[in-house]
Amino acid sequence: MPDTKPKQTLLDILHGVKRFKEESFPERRELFGQLANGQSPKTLFITCADSRIDPELLTDQPPGNLFVLRNIGNIIPAYGNAMGGVTSAVEYAVCALKVSTIIICGHSDCGAMDALIHPEKTASMPAVRNWLQFAETAHAVTDALTATDVGPESIQALTEHNVLLQLNHLRTHPSVAAALARNELALQGWYYDIPNGKVYILNEETRHDMTVTEAISILEQQLK
Ligand SMILES: [Zn+2]
Repeated sequence: MPDTKPKQTLLDILHGVKRFKEESFPERRELFGQLANGQSPKTLFITCADSRIDPELLTDQPPGNLFVLRNIGNIIPAYGNAMGGVTSAVEYAVCALKVSTIIICGHSDCGAMDALIHPEKTASMPAVRNWLQFAETAHAVTDALTATDVGPESIQALTEHNVLLQLNHLRTHPSVAAALARNELALQGWYYDIPNGKVYILNEETRHDMTVTEAISILEQQLK
């Protein structure tokens, strides 16, 4: 008997689209009407392709507010190293959409980070292996700073170092460097703790993760 799984999965998705059209869409008809004529998101949100991350749900933003770029491990190769989809999305977001914030969001239990620690897991996936080279430096830094055990804590440390590394890569992109020089852009790195529904803001200098509440109070002070 042929496997019915692919058809069942497709059916579930199509039922979802039908519910969207019949239930969610009418509730937001006005918003979608406005969005029909163009987008003006203020944020480029870069995160892992992991299915457990829902950027709009996590940030409580409606459609049209986040320009989202996703790939395995929320990786942004340094400029010139892999000119393609990632580089062009960054360039488009900064030059054409003129986003004022770029967030890179890593997350707990990230398979890409696990694969950096256990390269044997990607032995049969040469493309994944190749892609993860752009996060290898984070692995080296984590190894240098933490004990040799590879428990959940070191995966979190690696994930955070990877976010900081990718922020540095981002700064090598001419569009980003120019916007930063003009003071038109803010960059921020996040760690999303899935089981606790918590986001931590990473700080390169203090190496102390801030809670969202702390980050809000600092920003509100600065905006006064
Ligand atoms: Zn991931």
